[in-house]
Amino acid sequence: GWRSRAAFKLMEIDDKDRLFKPGQTVVDLGCAPGGWCQVAVQRLKGQGRIVGVDLLEMVGIGGVTFIQGDFTEDAVLAELEAAGIDAGVDLVLSDMAPNISGVDSADQARSYYLAELALDFAGRHLKPDGAFLIKVFQGSGFEDYVRQLRAVFGSVAVRKPKASRDRSREVYLLAKGLIVRD
Ligand code: SAM
Repeated sequence: GWRSRAAFKLMEIDDKDRLFKPGQTVVDLGCAPGGWCQVAVQRLKGQGRIVGVDLLEMVGIGGVTFIQGDFTEDAVLAELEAAGIDAGVDLVLSDMAPNISGVDSADQARSYYLAELALDFAGRHLKPDGAFLIKVFQGSGFEDYVRQLRAVFGSVAVRKPKASRDRSREVYLLAKGLIVRD
């Protein structure tokens, strides 16, 4: 079975946007308990490379290289960068969400801090035709983050899969067409 409800949201997005293709290199930020990794394994049909990172432990998944650690730490980032992604990444996924403190402004700020680091990672490692899919929460910081994405990608679309409850403020941003500067 699927390890998370999030798996259904990713499958819905992929059915529409065709993110996955066999042979790709995929990085999954905030991957535990592993639902998105399961979807990636299935949709890459066993061909390609999947690297996942999470603070928490994750029960192993065949075909997934898992790194346990905090993505905000340089040592963890270096470990990720050494995990065979040097030829470039086709798809960066981020479902990272910090533990909720209950103070909305603080939660939004921490969430967008992680999102900015994920964007920085995507900008440095994606192939020119790669894609970046990230979960964010509408509210404070949202418009500013979309602006940051639009400075790096030619196309930015908002996705709200049916499996994501209507009242939830979570939405997914799909960015494509890296603007390459020389
Ligand atoms: N996509 C996953 C799935 O389908 O199973 C669910 C991800 S869950 C919503 C968010 C994850 O982000 C949590 O497992 C959490 O530990 C992780 N996370 C939060 N902050 C992180 C950080 N700084 N570094 C790595 N992972 C982090």
